[in-house]
Amino acid sequence: MSEFQTSPGMRDILVPDSARVRAVVDAFAAAAEGAGYELIVTPLLEDAGVFERVGEATEVVEKQMYRFTDLGGRDVALRPEFTAAIGRAFVQHRPPTPWKVWTSGSNFRYERPQRGRYRQFEQVDAEVLGSDDPLVDVEMIALGWRFLAALGLRQVTLLLNSLGELAERAAYVDALRQHFGAHAATLSEASVATLARNPLRVLDSKRPEDQELIAAAPSIEQFYGPASAAHLDVVRDGLDLLGIPYTVAPRLVRGLDYYVRTTFEYAGGTLDSAQNALGGGGRYDGLVEALGGPSTPGIGLAIGVDRTLLACDDEGVFAAPASVVDVFVVDTTGGAAALTICDDVRSAGLRADRAFDHRSMKSQMKAADRSGAAIAVIVGSDEAAAGTAVMRSLHDGGAQRVVARADLVSHLTAELKAPRR
Ligand code: AMP
Repeated sequence: MSEFQTSPGMRDILVPDSARVRAVVDAFAAAAEGAGYELIVTPLLEDAGVFERVGEATEVVEKQMYRFTDLGGRDVALRPEFTAAIGRAFVQHRPPTPWKVWTSGSNFRYERPQRGRYRQFEQVDAEVLGSDDPLVDVEMIALGWRFLAALGLRQVTLLLNSLGELAERAAYVDALRQHFGAHAATLSEASVATLARNPLRVLDSKRPEDQELIAAAPSIEQFYGPASAAHLDVVRDGLDLLGIPYTVAPRLVRGLDYYVRTTFEYAGGTLDSAQNALGGGGRYDGLVEALGGPSTPGIGLAIGVDRTLLACDDEGVFAAPASVVDVFVVDTTGGAAALTICDDVRSAGLRADRAFDHRSMKSQMKAADRSGAAIAVIVGSDEAAAGTAVMRSLHDGGAQRVVARADLVSHLTAELKAPRR
């Protein structure tokens, strides 16, 4: 074993997985930009206060942040999530609203590593700040749903809930505190601790000994006022209109204190139930205010790329995009011809590779086959002297012809554009 290995919960991602990660991000980018979301890129490192302010009572912030003092004495943290960072950016730049943004990248949480749970993981994310319209909720839920479907996933369930307005939610939290508090003796130790911090989160417990009490807990629906009930109705009608199936899940909660009204989750049908959330999101109020901005409603969506790919593996969909070049240049005259030909071919927008180290013709032809290229361009001493090159098809029987070096790129372009294979 080599002296240095990746840290626990951190991974090198090599092909084909690296290509799949990028392809997932590309698919999300296409979906988000196709719906008018602009790309935002925020720093990996923020003032720790950004996350602390927003997620005071959450485990992520309390126990899992990579937080340290930098050389300038600043209290900083690697971002554990995007929403707070994007809220900070909103306050800093004050863009016109509604502000629709998407992003992707690594987040860091000091978790217990296991399948689908890492200390550095990739998310794609979308946020809309400055609109209260329930149709924004529908648009965002549909964005995630269509994106997962576009990857080929068919066994995803959409769970939908509303946490009510802030006051309704607070009344519900009180009711939960009373309910669980009265039966604390039968709760798991972990849930007793959670109860003290954030009673809503007890509903998230997967421990068997908690399930009976959770099932008997009051339901949020009893606490909705007319406005939040109406908001939820519009969201449901919108999803129905789009033909997106969902299950109302009154026990679905989001941890942060600022989450109100709509919450949703995409559950992967093939994953272990403790780790089956591919992603989710919800509305938040008060987050922008907590970060020093004007009162601004918002809604966000985050989907884990790693876990989404595990679900794709389970369903046998979204294979790695093939990494192939169009042209492989075989040069037995020393390698300089391959240098200029590759450069010309690449400048014309085609993908080209070559061999190095003065390999034999046979070895270079093998490399050409392995490269997946459709055409090998071969230059030996005769071609070099005559100012020509051989174009040989690698896919259909090895047909070949000699072309003038000056016309090579246009021949390649024409050949590769022609419908073949
Ligand atoms: P959250 O930001 O906690 O709502 O998480 C949103 C999604 O990000 C989850 O559904 C997961 O797919 C993914 N995710 C969160 N934490 C991790 C982690 N530690 N490792 C891998 N994926 C994660």
